[in-house]
Amino acid sequence: MRYSHQRELILKEVLARTDHPTAEQICTSLRAVCPRLSLGTVYRDLNTLVAIGKVRRVSIPGEADRFDGELGSHQHMFCRKCRKVISLPIPADHLEHLVMDCPGIEVENYSLTVFGLCSECAKTES
Ligand SMILES: [Zn+2]
Ligand SMILES: [Zn+2]
Repeated sequence: MRYSHQRELILKEVLARTDHPTAEQICTSLRAVCPRLSLGTVYRDLNTLVAIGKVRRVSIPGEADRFDGELGSHQHMFCRKCRKVISLPIPADHLEHLVMDCPGIEVENYSLTVFGLCSECAKTES
């Protein structure tokens, strides 16, 4: 299989999902159509897709990187119980204002990760 075709498959898989999958999860589901796909290849192609701006990487300390096909401005929440990553519709201009107002620094990029419980887990936590 040609690399470019494989990368297309990986991109399609990321775009089709809203659950912010890890490279491993993407690899597992693509093995149904592409049984010899290796995790190393998936990592490499994902890194390329991030570098060319087609996919967003969501880094959470202590967790495997997650990948997101939703490129519009949004932030994330990590649920400590079910380990889900959820998109938070925080308006970019609000956040940007706060970040840009910090004195003396030159901002190149930023991301906000909220830690806590998702709505389902919050219901069951007593
Ligand atoms: Zn949860
Ligand atoms: Zn997201």
